[in-house]
Amino acid sequence: MSEHTIAKEKAPKCSVCSKRITDLPSNRVIAHAENGEVTYTHFCSASCESKYLSKEKE
Ligand SMILES: [Zn+2]
Repeated sequence: MSEHTIAKEKAPKCSVCSKRITDLPSNRVIAHAENGEVTYTHFCSASCESKYLSKEKE
């Protein structure tokens, strides 16, 4: 058992592939500040993160 396990119902989904991020050591989170509110975008891996970032730039 890991202390870092996220409860399944609380697990965020990857913004790119919609995979549930439960106990992945590779998961990434980006914080965006918009209109004074901070939103968090979750990714299951660095490759999904870079896909999302390259989409955003277009
Ligand atoms: Zn993903």
